Amino acid sequence: MPASAKGRSRKAAARFAKAPAPVDAFGVYLHWPFCVSKCPYCDFNSHVRDKVEQTAWRDALLRELDHAAQEAPDRIVTSIFFGGGTPSLMPPDTVGAAIERVRTLWPVAEDVEITLEANPSSVEAERFADLRDAGVNRLSLGVQALDDAALKFLGRAHGVDEALKAIDTARKNFPRFSFDLIYGRPGHTVAAWREELKRALELAGDHLSLYQLTIERGTRFHTDHAKGLFTLPDEDTQAALYETTRDMLGAAGMPAYEISNHARPGSESRHNLVYWRYQDYVGIGPGAHGRFLQGGHKRATRRISGPEAWLDAVEHRGHGTAEAHGVERAQMVREALLMGLRLTEGIERALFERMTGVDAVAALDAGKLQSLIDGGLLELSATHLRATDQGRQLLNALLARLVD
Ligand code: SF4
Repeated sequence: MPASAKGRSRKAAARFAKAPAPVDAFGVYLHWPFCVSKCPYCDFNSHVRDKVEQTAWRDALLRELDHAAQEAPDRIVTSIFFGGGTPSLMPPDTVGAAIERVRTLWPVAEDVEITLEANPSSVEAERFADLRDAGVNRLSLGVQALDDAALKFLGRAHGVDEALKAIDTARKNFPRFSFDLIYGRPGHTVAAWREELKRALELAGDHLSLYQLTIERGTRFHTDHAKGLFTLPDEDTQAALYETTRDMLGAAGMPAYEISNHARPGSESRHNLVYWRYQDYVGIGPGAHGRFLQGGHKRATRRISGPEAWLDAVEHRGHGTAEAHGVERAQMVREALLMGLRLTEGIERALFERMTGVDAVAALDAGKLQSLIDGGLLELSATHLRATDQGRQLLNALLARLVD
């Protein structure tokens, strides 16, 4: 606990307690854009292909890593994250080669966190030991539900039995693992969710991601929902599901450190904290984003989204960058608020200033800030600006009032 928190009540101290924050945290994100099938709720940059030219993909990822090291040199890598798509479909050799290349391009922190997202199919679980040997030390499993009917509705390729086996294999192979569940499904009741959470807590490692089902444009669920083929629980039930999640996880010693993410203290996802704290990261692979300071200014990069177009670009010019530009001060403030207010700890004002060049409070309209504090949605201390629990539940509305 920071010394400044020692004199406060336990409750207040917990509210402001921070996960370990390496001052110069720097993340490397690699995107693997392929999946076995497309889930009906998913709006990620994920694609189904009959065949993937594995050698070409490995070479391209390594080449774009070389390029990223020129974009953001002189950093110490504190986290590497293989996301997707389904990176557990990557050949473990490719994962190992990418980790090795990172190690040759930048110094790497001794306790570097190396996460890989995986689906719990038996084929993928068979690779877990090889992925561990390749250097992965944290697995994030897309379990999504501990209920076969719900998994079917979510269009998942696995059942509960397969998920349980994958969790067991993850536990045996990785020092740290997390799994995801989605709640707020059609007909989902608080009683049913409580049972599912109880089971999840028995199975959990050090981290759980618990997301509310949202209907995203461009997905099959968006079409089905618009046609009235299913409905989501009403607002009161959604709020009760959220509160049940918060209370049960808190009581089990895995409090929410972000709206949807829960961890035993010290086991937060260091890589995702880089995003939420608006620290520096580079993005490799189709559609990957990067944000990093370059010559004292924040730079934003985005790679080409289409897998084949990205591959072609990397083969021809060494990188698949679609966009690279400086981020205006007002945009930096907006992005840093959007990210930081998701965290239970809120925004550390000194870090915010280092990342954006401006103090969070000085950047905001004093009248709007005060009215949100008076309304119980924001809290301000000498060191932090944070959304209250109520503020985090109404985050979009809060941000609209704060920065629009
Ligand atoms: S496995 Fe994950 S990334 Fe792939 S389609 Fe399903 S939700 Fe999207």
